Amino acid sequence: VTEELRKVWICVGCDMRVSNHSGRPIPQPAKWEDDRCPKCRLDLAFDVGGREGENAMAELLGMRRRRPTMAKTPDESKPPKPVDPEMVALKVCVKEVSLAHPDWSAEKVGEEVGVKTRTAARYRTELGLSRQPGPTAEQREQIARVLLTETPRSDEEVAKAVGVKTFTVTDVRRKMDVPPYRTRIREDRERRVAEVAAEHPNWGYKRVATEIGVPLNSTRRAFDKLRKSGAAEPVPTAA
Ligand SMILES: [Zn+2]
Repeated sequence: VTEELRKVWICVGCDMRVSNHSGRPIPQPAKWEDDRCPKCRLDLAFDVGGREGENAMAELLGMRRRRPTMAKTPDESKPPKPVDPEMVALKVCVKEVSLAHPDWSAEKVGEEVGVKTRTAARYRTELGLSRQPGPTAEQREQIARVLLTETPRSDEEVAKAVGVKTFTVTDVRRKMDVPPYRTRIREDRERRVAEVAAEHPNWGYKRVATEIGVPLNSTRRAFDKLRKSGAAEPVPTAA
């Protein structure tokens, strides 16, 4: 039994997250093993040991077998159910996308293929293609590129665009010393206000606000800041 405490435990099979509301680090949840939730442990047992393996694991975990069709038809001599060609096609898609993007979340894979996150996660587990831990170097570069574009985007947006977890984006952004989204938006506004104010020294904040389409409150705050700093010139661009 591992003594390790983590703020969030994420199942490698299905991306399920377990955390305490308080944010306090917690030990690995009950019946988890090697970062795998009980359901995914069952899946793995089935992959490795077939129905027998799955049953043994189910017993170990005190869970009922999840495949009702199997429970109802213990007769092994019966021919297997006909394979649904549509499902096979979707599985092939999940396989292709997972191989091309080994570190994509199940959610992202599901989105790409057009299936639910849970379905994508299940197919991946069945195919032995669970997500590889950690973002690739390429994805980190991609995140950096998106963060450096002129239009500020929230960490969530960037994460969605690149196909990584939000905390990965936050991590990359902090290492790059890029301020958070809201700060960038505010700094951007202040810069535009300062520019217009410098061009038209006798304009009031209301006219400036109308000119650049920034809310009155924000413009007034930017104005106050300008006055306090005593800057007649536009405020410098944030690094
Ligand atoms: Zn799981």
